[in-house]
Amino acid sequence: MNPAQASSGALYARLLGYVRPYAKVFGLALLGMVAAAATEPLFPALMKPLLDGGFGAGKQASFPPLAFAAALVGIFILRGILSFGSSYFLAWVANRVVLDLRAAMFARLVRLPAKFFDDHSSGTVLSKVAYDVGGVTAAATTVLTVAVKDTIAVAGLLAWLLYLNWKLTLVALAVGPLIVLFVRLLSSRLRSMAREAQHAMGDLVHVLEETIECHKVVKVFGGQDYEARRFERANQRLRGFNMRQTVPAALTTPVTHILAATALAIILYLAIEDSLAAHTTVGEFASFITAMLMLLAPLKHLTEINAPLQRGLAAAESVFGLIDAPAEEDRGTVTLARARGEITFDNVSFTYPTRNVPALCSVSLAVRPGERVALVGSSGGGKTTLVNLLPRFYAADSGRITLDGHDLQTLALEGLRANLALVSQDVVLFNDSIRANIAYGAMGAAAEREVIAAAEAAHALEFIRDTPLGMETLIGEHGMRLSGGQRQRLAIARALLKNAPVLILDEATSALDSESERLVQAALETLMHGRTTIVIAHRLSTIERADRIVVLERGSIVETGSHPELLARGGAYARLYRIQYDAQRASAADA
Ligand code: ADP
Ligand code: MG
Repeated sequence: MNPAQASSGALYARLLGYVRPYAKVFGLALLGMVAAAATEPLFPALMKPLLDGGFGAGKQASFPPLAFAAALVGIFILRGILSFGSSYFLAWVANRVVLDLRAAMFARLVRLPAKFFDDHSSGTVLSKVAYDVGGVTAAATTVLTVAVKDTIAVAGLLAWLLYLNWKLTLVALAVGPLIVLFVRLLSSRLRSMAREAQHAMGDLVHVLEETIECHKVVKVFGGQDYEARRFERANQRLRGFNMRQTVPAALTTPVTHILAATALAIILYLAIEDSLAAHTTVGEFASFITAMLMLLAPLKHLTEINAPLQRGLAAAESVFGLIDAPAEEDRGTVTLARARGEITFDNVSFTYPTRNVPALCSVSLAVRPGERVALVGSSGGGKTTLVNLLPRFYAADSGRITLDGHDLQTLALEGLRANLALVSQDVVLFNDSIRANIAYGAMGAAAEREVIAAAEAAHALEFIRDTPLGMETLIGEHGMRLSGGQRQRLAIARALLKNAPVLILDEATSALDSESERLVQAALETLMHGRTTIVIAHRLSTIERADRIVVLERGSIVETGSHPELLARGGAYARLYRIQYDAQRASAADA
């Protein structure tokens, strides 16, 4: 067995694992399929007594016409019930499996480390959960139905043929290997084209996603034609691969039929020549030909399942790939209740996996409980990276970070993160009510007056009152229906409600105009009160009051001290301050 086959087998075994909880219903579906398929040879079997006994022997028929008519309808009613039942039960199981697979994917998705999202575009992840799962079960259902039903039908019909006339049957079977060979030839082509079509579909979705997401940039920069051409290319590619798939797919049936018809012609010739078909009754012969013709449909189906089979297995690979992606490491056992908020970085170094240059090198910093430390430095200096190590979005390559004396790695993730609140430049809001956004996540159970108190302290209540539905107002995707300052104040209210002892502010005010900055600044003052705060800000005016200022350049701490101390030293901070101060004076003079 080659490795590819082995992994297909493993994939099937794994899919069956998802079917196991529904084994009873699945068994019923299979039973229905088998029974329905078993009725297949009944029809040609009826032909024989009808023709031999009914038409052939005049009025003293051993097989009355009425009984034949009733049997005919009966067979089809039975088959109808059986095939309806099996289709229904199979669909039920398939939809359950889709439900469980999607749940498993989503459960993993929310536990994936930050690194995963650095490496995978949202488009690919999205299409795995949205499309690929459906592809798995759709293919599995078709393949299973065809494999079970049609194999049994073929076997039953062949058995009937052999019983009628084994010599003629062997003649018919001689075309079998030819058909198999031909199908093999086409299927490899089918498979590669199906894969290409999948990729082309991915590209198409990618272009769509970017165009929708960035519609404003497209409009302002006149990117419509550029995007239209990009879309046209992806669209054409998809069409091309689909068409190239059509050729082998559409060839399968006629070629199979031509081969089968050749066999039929040979049989007819032999029968008429009376060499092989001697001693054959009219009924037997008619029954034989009917059974042979009936073989064509299931044969056709069997020759056609390879394409959906390969598509389904490829989709299963992608689905299980996501489910198997390693989750965030959480081997910590110590559960902190409420931390005092003492943080130390001890010789911490970190390099992003995709980079060669370290983002942090040997950073050491001790923050006392309740202290307000400001991180400043030029863009790309590693400020965000440093604070991202605290909620363990990334793990330090070397060195130690502690909270209240516990190494972060020994703390249970949930307990660690419960002690942190984060407000960053890109405010993350959900397409939900204002209340749900403030009382997000674990805080969802907060009492109404707590939510209102948080909104008030964050200076958000003023604008919430102006909205038509107050706390129940829906704010749109990414909080689109709010201004930047309003979004920022909601994020602050959320952090206030969480009431965590450690607060991280990553450029929380840098996207704001002066007016909303004043409101947000006031809200932040309330938020920082009595908490250990690490604040990153571009506008140095907002951090002058910090207890300590730490200057981070190219991943290393170059200066530490209070605002007056650092100004007096005349180093990196003094330079940064001078630049901004001059810029401010210049713009004030302009005004
Ligand atoms: P700052 O917040 O001080 O502006 P960052 O901590 O965001 O700087 O970035 C520090 C360095 O790490 C930069 O050179 C940046 O390009 C790089 N970097 C930031 N995030 C990632 C990431 N997810 N993957 C790879 N490199 C990154
Ligand atoms: Mg940053």
